[in-house]
Amino acid sequence: MLTLEHVDVFYGNAPALHDLSVALEPGQIVALVGRNGAGKSTTLRTLCGLLPCRRGIRMMDGVDVTGFGPEDLNRAGVAFVPEDRQIFPTLTVDENLRMAQVVRRNGDWTIARVFELFPRLAERRNALGQSLSGGEQQMLSIARALLCCPTYLLLDEPTEGLAPLVVAMMVDAIREISNSGVGLALVEQNFKVPSALANRFVVLESGRIAWEGNKEEFDRKQGEVESLITA
Ligand code: ATP
Repeated sequence: MLTLEHVDVFYGNAPALHDLSVALEPGQIVALVGRNGAGKSTTLRTLCGLLPCRRGIRMMDGVDVTGFGPEDLNRAGVAFVPEDRQIFPTLTVDENLRMAQVVRRNGDWTIARVFELFPRLAERRNALGQSLSGGEQQMLSIARALLCCPTYLLLDEPTEGLAPLVVAMMVDAIREISNSGVGLALVEQNFKVPSALANRFVVLESGRIAWEGNKEEFDRKQGEVESLITA
């Protein structure tokens, strides 16, 4: 499990997360949902070590990794796909993927396998990063993260701005990644994509948890929970 336990996180002197606890399990999908500025991206940045915990602890598979930075956590098996994707615009798809294999843990994710997951990337393997559509860039960014063979994968709004057909493709791919045993955190602004995928739901509001529950609880209280982000 990758967990944050009662963490407070700040940007300089500005508090961003308060007493926040969240847990990712291999093969499970946790959805982090909330309005703009609720603290979703900050939670992912804290899980992957980009932000330190001022209070509370970060644990991974029974080890206290509170003091670990992003490089240490990446080597330990945590991969982060940021909202702005961060691919190399002047390298081809193939080169982008080969560059991603610099930090490589033991595991099954190879370039051939990410091409199976995203056949569109195989078709575009000689295209430059900057010439890709938004959906193709998102696929490339996730494929790059998978090539480190992570145990935990953190996805920041992977379907934002994508056409419905591409969103459906992305949902299938995320499900397949989860079925392979990877523990996923999925940040989204609404419940549309998470409700089809997540095992656990966490609603954030002003850096705190406003509601959390498993799939069954979410299905039972869906209207009530959705009103937390629409009201
Ligand atoms: P969005 O969907 O808009 O990205 P979010 O739920 O991911 O929203 P965060 O980006 O985590 O929200 O932001 C949480 C709070 O931290 C907000 O008040 C935001 O203004 C602040 N914040 C985010 N990034 C920084 C930063 N680099 N420096 C200072 N404050 C920041």
